[in-house]
Amino acid sequence: VIVMKFRLEIVRFMPAELQPGVLYVSNEFGIAAHLCACGCGSKVRTPLGPTDWQVENSDAGPSLYPSIGNWQRCGSHYFISSGDVIWSEKWTAAQIAAGRRAEERRSRQHFERVERERPLRRAWRWLKSRFR
Ligand SMILES: [Zn+2]
Repeated sequence: VIVMKFRLEIVRFMPAELQPGVLYVSNEFGIAAHLCACGCGSKVRTPLGPTDWQVENSDAGPSLYPSIGNWQRCGSHYFISSGDVIWSEKWTAAQIAAGRRAEERRSRQHFERVERERPLRRAWRWLKSRFR
């Protein structure tokens, strides 16, 4: 089933079985998930955050940015915009490699951010202890 339209469903935990055409969002866990719009059945999990994906909802339906590149399985590449699936070109081998690198970069940036904030938190604790 090729999905043409997505609707938003806010959940706490991701259901084990995803329905096609539903963009599940868990704000608690900062993650969204949906079944690939091409109908291949693969689950697409997208972390949400300033350097990851973002979801906006409207009366017409949800939008998910940036685009989805399903380079593990079917090579689908699309946007979800106001509930509509907007297909982009399939990924070429070079784009797949670039996409993988971008994903690695994102997770590395996330890790580096956590590492960067650690001394800040230490400094904050130290400051608080001084004024106790
Ligand atoms: Zn697919």
